[in-house]
Amino acid sequence: MRRTVRRLADQREIIYFDDSPDPPERTATDERDLPEQAGGSEIRRDPLTGEWVALAAHRQTRTYKPPADLCPLCPSTPGRPTEVPESSYDVVVFENRFPSFSQVNGLGRCEVVCFTSEHTTSFGELPASRVCTIVDAWADRTAALAELPGVEQVFPFENRGEEIGVTLAHPHGQIYGYPFVTPKTERMLTVAREHGRSPMGDVLAMERADGSRVLATSEHWTAFVPAAARWPVEVHLVPHRQVPDLPALTDAERDDFARVYLRVLHMLDGLYDRPLPYIAAWHQAPVRTGRDLSWLHLEVFSVLRTADKLKYLAGSESGMAVWINDVLPEDLATRLRALDRGLLLG
Ligand SMILES: [Zn+2]
Repeated sequence: MRRTVRRLADQREIIYFDDSPDPPERTATDERDLPEQAGGSEIRRDPLTGEWVALAAHRQTRTYKPPADLCPLCPSTPGRPTEVPESSYDVVVFENRFPSFSQVNGLGRCEVVCFTSEHTTSFGELPASRVCTIVDAWADRTAALAELPGVEQVFPFENRGEEIGVTLAHPHGQIYGYPFVTPKTERMLTVAREHGRSPMGDVLAMERADGSRVLATSEHWTAFVPAAARWPVEVHLVPHRQVPDLPALTDAERDDFARVYLRVLHMLDGLYDRPLPYIAAWHQAPVRTGRDLSWLHLEVFSVLRTADKLKYLAGSESGMAVWINDVLPEDLATRLRALDRGLLLG
């Protein structure tokens, strides 16, 4: 893998991660006349819950569902410059032009990760070698963002599908460097402190012994539907070794993750016989606190409870943060296991 750092016209960083044999030098310059980077976001703390809210009114002007020939994440072509000056790329990361959190006002950072230069494909269709490059890019960015002043937690994630609110169809994810530890992570750390360690080791041992919710296991990872799943479709991918974050994974663990995750994504797309809209969220340790109490894992979930019905976050979920799930996790696991093409994929 080769890594090249460049700057866009408005001084945002762009980083190429190349896995192709003999990739071209990444020397293309951004010829666009761009206005200065938008700052403008602000964080305020809710005095009743102690939780932070980001106010990012400038994001209302961001690109919204452009036609494929105006996609800002495709490589540039002569006469049509995009966010990526090169005419091709493998994986590329750049600072978001419309960030929810921004270094401009010292409040974290938001980056975009393009998984492939191909506009009409999806993460689940990528080869395992490309998934490894993406994991390397996530790890690289996690380490880099953790070094920035004011970043307290790094969150790589992918939103996929219109039902999730994705405004660009091109296969991509984002990385948020939050200027605080997120409420979800705070909650998990509180429970871990009560136990004196992360409960994930016990969860993993229990799920592996029981097996009824397990979807796939490998040398280094287990994928399962959690016993107390909140969403109609929810899968957790957990490494067998306790590590705080992606940079701590070995090469063997990264390779193994790529294979297990692709298996899971194939199962998910088979569930309703249509590309599943999903959110894939990496739970990583905060930068400065609770690192020995954290256990890296990926949570993948969908808002779709049948092929065409959405689960809405209604009164109980939105008002009180109490989830009511109509789908029994064991039943979901049985249905997903029946769709496993793992053996065919090797
Ligand atoms: Zn595109």
